[in-house]
Amino acid sequence: MTDTSLEQIKGSGWLKEANFIGGKWVSADDGRTYEVIDPATEKLIGRIPWVSAQETHRAIDAAQAAFTSWSLTTAAHRAELLHRMAKIVRDNQETFATMLTLEQGKPLAEARTEMKLGADYIQWFAEEARRINGEIVPSPWKDRQILVTREPVGVVGAISPWNFPFSMLARKVAPALAAGCTIVIKPSEFTPYCGLLYAVLAQKAGIPDGVINVVTGEGAVVGGELTKNPLVRKITFTGSTRVGKLLYKQSADTMKKLSMELGGNAPTIVFDDADLDLVIENAIAGKFRNSGQTCVCTNRFHVQDGIYDAFAQRLTERARKMKVGNGFEEGVEQGPLINEAAVKKVESHVQDARAKGARVLTGGKRHALGATFFEPTVLAEATPDMLIAHEETFGPIAALFRFREEQDGIDAANSTEFGLAAYFYTRDLARTFRVSRAIQSGMIGINAGVITTAEAPFGGVKDSGIGREGSTHGVEDYLNLKYLCLGGL
Ligand code: NAD
Repeated sequence: MTDTSLEQIKGSGWLKEANFIGGKWVSADDGRTYEVIDPATEKLIGRIPWVSAQETHRAIDAAQAAFTSWSLTTAAHRAELLHRMAKIVRDNQETFATMLTLEQGKPLAEARTEMKLGADYIQWFAEEARRINGEIVPSPWKDRQILVTREPVGVVGAISPWNFPFSMLARKVAPALAAGCTIVIKPSEFTPYCGLLYAVLAQKAGIPDGVINVVTGEGAVVGGELTKNPLVRKITFTGSTRVGKLLYKQSADTMKKLSMELGGNAPTIVFDDADLDLVIENAIAGKFRNSGQTCVCTNRFHVQDGIYDAFAQRLTERARKMKVGNGFEEGVEQGPLINEAAVKKVESHVQDARAKGARVLTGGKRHALGATFFEPTVLAEATPDMLIAHEETFGPIAALFRFREEQDGIDAANSTEFGLAAYFYTRDLARTFRVSRAIQSGMIGINAGVITTAEAPFGGVKDSGIGREGSTHGVEDYLNLKYLCLGGL
């Protein structure tokens, strides 16, 4: 991106460098700011406010003040406003995708897809708003009626990551608003503009002041206030398992509802009878999308003996052909990583694997393009003692593990504390059902590599979290059930 286009984007009114509290654009009380860096060029994009617990407290108060009237609006009204919001996102997809690539680094084509997915989630929950029904339950008493209503939980605190800075928030903001909740958003410090964009969207869509508030600051400070404050009735978090567990503990004293979309270490099992052409294209997208910085991306390929060599060769050929570069360049398939620290982590996983006997089939080192770039890498003969087998690598490394029998593949896939997504490739129907039953994971792609959609429940088991986002279930976590017993009939 040129300096002129950066100025154009900044002048467009969509890219905001202030916080949004109770319908007002504000800076930090003490004027502190934080620098936002373009991961591809490592140049300064701009500065955002770096607020304290005090401003966060005010944002929560604003959300609480707005909750009283917002929760009493009709579902049809809330649906209409969310539909408006989705339309604005679709109408401005190109500008928003540009903002996303600028601060996050992913190729522009992927940024467009994320914006479309975000709009899909908002539209989905606009539709769901009108289907938050109550229940009338058969009563055991002749003279009493049992009614169950669903009510919004109250103020929601939403903390989001940098890897999908727009779409991850769409599946928090939209169900919260659909249910009648108000929200305080804390986006990642690395990608704040896509979070602050929700404030602009709220204004443009005519969403009342205080319903959406956005604060930017240090995770521990803003998150500390969000979890401590009794007015916040629910925390929805997407990010690392380490921080998720911390927030879980911090929320205990005020007994908040929690949704935790945490880390993954997704296995992909390739059985001997897999369709190799199908596997390769899916494996490339499922591994290297967003430079491998996707919670559901394959961390481990478990490949059966009979197909291992052919798979390794084809994947290596395809990975070698990938175009790496600035996300704004035409045809780029892999952009930078979010920062140099991320590159160092990837590097350490490769070094560890090599030291323990892995062979580098392609890549394996930093890319000549700069400090935030890493070459698409394929490692053969990976083993369970390597870091890459246990930790989330979050980078463009495909590690290939070998197995013999079906059960060995299943056991290897399950040998992790995570359980977010898993994938397997086979043409055998009975095996499809056997393996689906045995895999411990919230989501499974069977002969499919990219499976996220607004219609399906997204979420994990084990250390990958609790709750589901998207689908008809995605609004449940923003609702409390209330039982009414009507006597004297
Ligand atoms: P992170 O946990 O470092 O940060 C996530 C958010 O938490 C950021 O906004 C950060 O500022 C904030 N934060 C950091 N420390 C905090 C604290 N002490 N208290 C409160 N908030 C704090 O994660 P990240 O590096 O931004 O994102 C990558 C991680 O997110 C990966 O582990 C990835 O798997 C996970 N992720 C999961 C999903 C999912 O749906 N399960 C989706 C995307 C990303």
